[in-house]
Amino acid sequence: METKIIKIDKENIDMNLIKEAAELIKEGKIVAFPTETVYGLGANGLDERAVEGLFKAKGRPQDNPLILHISSIEQLKSLVLEVPDIAYECMKRFWPGPLTMIFKKSHIVPYMITGGLETVAIRMPNNKIALELIKEANLPIAGPSANLSGRPSPTNAQHVIEDLAGKIDMIIDGGETGVGLESTVLDVSGDIPMILRPGGVTLEDLQEFIPGVVQDLGTIKSDANIVPKSPGQKYRHYAPKADMFVFTGNIDKVVNRIKEETSILIKEGKKVGIMATEETKNNYTQGVVFVVGSRENKESIASNLFKTIRLFDEKDVDIIIAEGVESDHIGTAIMNRMMKASGGKIINI
Ligand code: AMP
Ligand code: MG
Repeated sequence: METKIIKIDKENIDMNLIKEAAELIKEGKIVAFPTETVYGLGANGLDERAVEGLFKAKGRPQDNPLILHISSIEQLKSLVLEVPDIAYECMKRFWPGPLTMIFKKSHIVPYMITGGLETVAIRMPNNKIALELIKEANLPIAGPSANLSGRPSPTNAQHVIEDLAGKIDMIIDGGETGVGLESTVLDVSGDIPMILRPGGVTLEDLQEFIPGVVQDLGTIKSDANIVPKSPGQKYRHYAPKADMFVFTGNIDKVVNRIKEETSILIKEGKKVGIMATEETKNNYTQGVVFVVGSRENKESIASNLFKTIRLFDEKDVDIIIAEGVESDHIGTAIMNRMMKASGGKIINI
């Protein structure tokens, strides 16, 4: 299949191009599009065959449900049975934005979207191209991250091309995403609102509105006995080709330990990648060193994390050693992705 690649400037949107992409979606085809979190792989969320095509293109397990992307609150009403008050509060504060909410689904949402569950995940993305595309298609757009299943999520069109060129109908290049990590998933369908996946909207942000909100422990602990509640969280994710290790704790000790480990590994003939930060980079004199962001500005680390993992893949390193961050605010989401990317190899020193 030939994949058409089009460029759209999000500050000056060419509506003819949006219309062309929306037509494809309406015809049941697959279009990758930018959001503020990561690139999404879009298809008509009410068309089972189109959605089946999404799972195939990504190689995604069918029990891992998809998020429906909408452009108005009006659109939400036909997709869900009820909207709890707390959800209205969250929408007012965080939509459009990196917060997905889980609702009880209405009959028009196919089980193919929900992995057979009675609940559906819905979000309004904060990206003008995405919003115009959804509005123009006049449909909820199913949009998992536009990577091959298991690979790091794409934060620019080049990443999507690497993974999916030849497998989908169109890729909209809308530049770099911002947040860089997938949306926070908040279940509001039960009695206690629960974060099923940490993301750009943090537990601390939500606690201001929902004092009783809890975080699913399975998303923050790498303990085989704690099974995450969200189907997608149980899979290995964001995996680099190399083996990855993450060191957390006092940063001076972490740096020293990474230097020691690197020395030993290099003597064993291994090619070592170090995921460093602005504040620590000058300490490392061996290995392939990439700076992921600044410890003073954890949003920058979130924004660059997946891209940096892909850079190490390009350099063909055997092992990646990364500095962890404190697990609070956006750090919770960063550590969740590092936990998945490393297969749980987080060492606290
Ligand atoms: P992605 O499409 O890669 O952003 O992943 C979507 C995430 O939302 C996965 O972790 C899914 O397991 C989760 N998700 C989607 N729908 C539901 C649902 N109905 N209940 C619980 N988690 C869901
Ligand atoms: Mg994904």
